[in-house]
Amino acid sequence: LKEQEQEMLETIDQKYQEALKKSTRQFHNFTDFPLSWRTLEGLKENDYEKPTEIQRDTILYSLSGSDVVGAAKTGSGKTLALVIPVLEALWRAKWCSSYGLGALIISPTRELALQTFSTINAVGKCHDFSCGLVIGGSELGFEKNRISGINIIVCTPGRLLQHMDENEQMNCDSLQILVLDEADRMLDMGFAKQLNSLVSNLPSERQTLLFSATQTRNVKDLSRVCTKDPVFVSVHENA
Ligand code: ADP
Ligand code: MG
Repeated sequence: LKEQEQEMLETIDQKYQEALKKSTRQFHNFTDFPLSWRTLEGLKENDYEKPTEIQRDTILYSLSGSDVVGAAKTGSGKTLALVIPVLEALWRAKWCSSYGLGALIISPTRELALQTFSTINAVGKCHDFSCGLVIGGSELGFEKNRISGINIIVCTPGRLLQHMDENEQMNCDSLQILVLDEADRMLDMGFAKQLNSLVSNLPSERQTLLFSATQTRNVKDLSRVCTKDPVFVSVHENA
């Protein structure tokens, strides 16, 4: 299995490029995508078999390293559309606990952050990354000491900024991938300024995924600040 995984890692970029040449309609099941056995096993054990439309239409771009701005209505499966590329990005980079923060996922509310956190733990169960919730509610001091060892942080904007400002152990220098989830909702909640200031604290050499339920003008403004040359994917309901 180790050898197979090594071989998969060596040829993965080629596999992405080949897959990108095909029509997305050829991807019926998650097993049709070039994914690590670890993620495939996690998907299978959680009964995720077929990608939803937003997942099918974004995952290959996200996997191959492009920035992606994705819009699809609530309930369309945006969580897995971001969780799978996050797991695969760290897997490709052979991330391990001592590498520090590799992925940052920002959610508007504690509840949504908690849901994303659960999905990562469920689908990512065969990976070795540590995942932590940074959402307030507990004492800052408690989060403070744990934060330096976390590979994937799922957070709300205010609490993360607080760590960036006050916690010298908070280090984002090695960040590979940033995800802004439910971006329209975060903007509706008045987080624009905080998001801009968060993003300015992050390394510019990174991948960024931005998901929202709607594509408003504010979402476009935010994507202009956060992403580089993104692929825009919008899933419309059939009339
Ligand atoms: P959104 O973020 O777009 O509002 P979620 O990611 O919360 O949507 O997903 C909505 C529901 O759909 C969840 O219960 C989730 O488990 C389920 N779901 C997501 N993707 C799939 C899939 N590929 N197959 C089956 N169920 C899925
Ligand atoms: Mg969502």
